[in-house]
Amino acid sequence: MDILITEDLLHPAIDRLAARHSVTREPGLWQDPARLAAAAAGARTLMIRNQTKVTAELIAAAPDLVGIGRVGVGLDNIDLAAAARRGIVVVAPLSANAVSVAELTLGLLLALARKIPLGDRTTKAGGWDRRGCTGIELEGKTLGICGFGRIGRLVAARARAFGLRVAAYDPFLAGDPGACEAGGAVACASLEELLASADFVTLHLPLTPDTAKLIDARRLALMKPGAFLINTSRGGIVDEVALEAALRGTRLAGAALDVRETEPPGAPGGLESLPNVILTPHIGAFTQEAQTRSFEAVAEDLERLLAGQPALNAVPPA
Ligand code: NAD
Repeated sequence: MDILITEDLLHPAIDRLAARHSVTREPGLWQDPARLAAAAAGARTLMIRNQTKVTAELIAAAPDLVGIGRVGVGLDNIDLAAAARRGIVVVAPLSANAVSVAELTLGLLLALARKIPLGDRTTKAGGWDRRGCTGIELEGKTLGICGFGRIGRLVAARARAFGLRVAAYDPFLAGDPGACEAGGAVACASLEELLASADFVTLHLPLTPDTAKLIDARRLALMKPGAFLINTSRGGIVDEVALEAALRGTRLAGAALDVRETEPPGAPGGLESLPNVILTPHIGAFTQEAQTRSFEAVAEDLERLLAGQPALNAVPPA
């Protein structure tokens, strides 16, 4: 089989691939590691999103594998080192989603500041609670951006149009002191400095062993009283138990999460019950434009790999 699709992926680009190659599409395969390994044993390439765990064991079970196409960004579900050891090319169109995620982030920022979901809920329930929906302006406030890469910089540019002062923290830009300023942000020397100075903190960094639960109880306690947290990066970067406690206390005024520690998160729990929390189902990349860019790029690269040609969106080996 040329292409094994292990998640619920649908797009005309897949139909075009299926007209020219042997394509197997099993939307639930990612949930069953044994069946996944058995199917991968006969696959030359995989097409996945973020649910399939491409472990060293899975790679070992797939002797014919030459490429993995990741529709989207965030490579925390792929063992890149194991893929590199086998010479398997991982392709991911890393810029394809960035504008969509940045725009969602601004949407969540405005929704938190102006209590838009509360106004919607209460008005549809027959209410007209204008005083209860009193919000705050963005102009003159400080937005702290943690992770100043592709998405973080797009968020900064858009935030400045609202009159926000932008601060950024990114330890990997330490060797390039002008990078934050060039992106319209004041550089913070530490995460602690960023958290203490921002009215809104937004996360745009990858999930790695170093960033897992980076935003924990200690760091949440450093945030300004009445500040807001937005996470459109990866759920595992925020300790959800600590966040819920911070939202129930006086520390945080609200939070918006597009991503969760476990996805889907299961039965509604503490965070779902809080009125000052906005939750979306990992839709940062779900715009027509981003989906088309991502699928087209991955489809083209898988075809190139199957034909023995270099991929255009190969991720550098780990
Ligand atoms: P990017 O690689 O361009 O930027 C990430 C930045 O984070 C880099 O500049 C890096 O130096 C920085 N960074 C790494 N560790 C850090 C740390 N400990 N503290 C602060 N900064 C740190 O990535 P991007 O394209 O901007 O994407 C950012 C993240 O957004 C991705 O890793 C992905 O997990 C997430 N994402 C989410 C969605 C969604 O649907 N919600 C879609 C696309 C991407």
